[in-house]
Amino acid sequence: MPSLPRSPFQLHGGCFCDAIKYTISIPELSERPVVHSHPSKPLGPRNEINELLSIIFIDHCNSCRRIAGSIVQTWFICPQSWVEFDLESRSGGSVKPAVIEFVTPDKILEELTFIKGFKSSQYASRTFCGRCGTHLTFHYSGPDQELAEKGNWGPYLNPTLGSLDEASAEIEGLRPDRQVWTGDGIGWMKRLVLDGESSFCAAKEQKLVWVIETDFVYVAILQRDNLCIGRQLTPLY
Ligand SMILES: [Zn+2]
Repeated sequence: MPSLPRSPFQLHGGCFCDAIKYTISIPELSERPVVHSHPSKPLGPRNEINELLSIIFIDHCNSCRRIAGSIVQTWFICPQSWVEFDLESRSGGSVKPAVIEFVTPDKILEELTFIKGFKSSQYASRTFCGRCGTHLTFHYSGPDQELAEKGNWGPYLNPTLGSLDEASAEIEGLRPDRQVWTGDGIGWMKRLVLDGESSFCAAKEQKLVWVIETDFVYVAILQRDNLCIGRQLTPLY
């Protein structure tokens, strides 16, 4: 499984309508804080790169699902010092707030730009674009910060992975390495994450079969006389 680059690299993202943009600058490996937590639901093997921040994870929590309006949410935990925001001003020009000002925006910033803040619980602050609705960040300010203190992360935040620009989201190794809040969530989505497409082949009796079509040979899973998943192997000419 590919890992994130060892050398410094940047990720770019923002909201759908471009009123809010951000850049995450990931330093070289030796400058990334330690995670100090082995995932209980890992998605792939551990290595020296994913033992350091960032943490990228699939979140099945029902609050995040409802707030995102998506069957599952995916986050990128990183130190606030890695992130810069660039907001379009309603009167023209741009505004570059400190990260803590962005993740818990006050009325002045909300009226000056398109950012909208929402507290989903006592310690959970979220931000959205007030023009297009993109969910951008989650920030936790409660007392349960043991992981961050152990790893000496400093202040941190979670940008949504889905708000990354396409080129950034395609960077090799940028993929979740764990899933969390699996006590919540939707059953078929959790099976899909763990087992991939095969989770939809629920039949007890499955066997691999060869399928010869006019032009191609396939290997497929046969279940209850239905071909469930096919993979093209060889063109016949
Ligand atoms: Zn927007």
